[in-house]
Amino acid sequence: MKPEEQQLAALRSELNYDKTNKCVQCGYCLPACPTYLTMGVETHSPRGRINLVKMAGEGKIKDLSVLEEPLDLCLGCRACETVCPTGVEYGAILESARAAITRRKTFTVPQKAMRNLLFKKVFPSRKAMNLIGNAMWVYEKSGVQKLARKSGLMKKLPAHLGEFEKIPPPAVAPAQRASLPAFTPAKGERKYTVAMFVGCVMDAMFRRINQLSVQLLAEVGCDVIVVENQTCCGALHAHTGELDESKNLAKKNILAFARNDVDFIVNNAGGCGAMMVEYDHLLADEPEWAERAEQFVKKTKDISQVLVLCGGIQGEKRSAERVTYQRSCHMTNVQKVTEEPVSLLKNLSNVDLIEMNNANMCCGSAGIYNIVNYDASMEILDHKMKDVKETETTTIVTTNPGCLLQMKLGIEREKMGDRVRAVHLIEYLAERSGMINAADQSLS
Ligand code: SF4
Ligand code: SF4
Repeated sequence: MKPEEQQLAALRSELNYDKTNKCVQCGYCLPACPTYLTMGVETHSPRGRINLVKMAGEGKIKDLSVLEEPLDLCLGCRACETVCPTGVEYGAILESARAAITRRKTFTVPQKAMRNLLFKKVFPSRKAMNLIGNAMWVYEKSGVQKLARKSGLMKKLPAHLGEFEKIPPPAVAPAQRASLPAFTPAKGERKYTVAMFVGCVMDAMFRRINQLSVQLLAEVGCDVIVVENQTCCGALHAHTGELDESKNLAKKNILAFARNDVDFIVNNAGGCGAMMVEYDHLLADEPEWAERAEQFVKKTKDISQVLVLCGGIQGEKRSAERVTYQRSCHMTNVQKVTEEPVSLLKNLSNVDLIEMNNANMCCGSAGIYNIVNYDASMEILDHKMKDVKETETTTIVTTNPGCLLQMKLGIEREKMGDRVRAVHLIEYLAERSGMINAADQSLS
């Protein structure tokens, strides 16, 4: 083989080029794609993006940076996969292409340092994420937050960060942060032993949801273990082209969770769960990890699945409420968990679940997509909020931290905070079962 043919063969394997051949250009995926629907251009559709990768694999596009904008503007929601008649693995194509672009990209020294810090030191470290959680508490309680908001400083922050500053949940005090026990026994008869995956952002910003998750699991009959040495799932890395680092994190989690013999590895974040159920695909080219990854995937469950397996949550008699459910794309399209959250909500007494139109359409959150592609994300969010408004509900229930924050942002943008709130499914179940007070749930 000539050197240029060898180079092209290596690029094809790096790009997952073979997977692009499954695309027959039918276009069935176009109406399912939020970025095609809002932007209306072929390069921002699944078919268009697949074609760009294909052309790069065939040497028709020499400079991979041409692919950067169309792929950056993809939400990675994977709705296209669910309607594709030939089973194109779009997610795998997207992640490989993003990694190939990132490998060839020249970052400035500060950019490189920032990426290294975030991807290698901060997200994978529970200690660092704890520090961030504690810093948020100090910021909130010391009066700095009040001062910054009053002074108008927030409005001057770049990249609309001032808008995002308003939406995180109240920070958990450092003393309470330490209270996620290594072992929580089942209440009554034990049905399962589960290991709780605590995540990175979930652990720093949504510790309360993690605590409630452990309590609810124990309540329905699970012994709950919080495994030491677990780390970030690697989703943020994979979505930003740091595929090698996400493989490292997957291996660390596989090893950490293999130390305990459990029935299930439970997560409460749609995005993390979607990453974890694909560890076998992620490590498919490393035979020594294949079996261990497969075992890990078999045990991985969203918390709603385990709660349903254990018989669900018995809600108390509480005031009537109309709620709608914002489906996490990753939970729906990748984990294929669709019915369990709905059945948990429907089981609650006095809760009227109203499904919104276009329920499977992405809300535009997609990790940090809403920060780096603000305008595109807000256009998608505005469509979502129109569907939410039509339900005339007072609570939006979600199953993913990104969706939760995006829904809170949507409520802010629509100035509906006096009558609508957004909560995680776990908070809602805890509230309706009397585990926590509704008053604890701050309105968005
Ligand atoms: S639906 Fe599948 S085969 Fe058809 S254009 Fe889209 S990705 Fe290609
Ligand atoms: S992942 Fe979502 S945004 Fe990206 S091409 Fe598929 S449907 Fe469109």
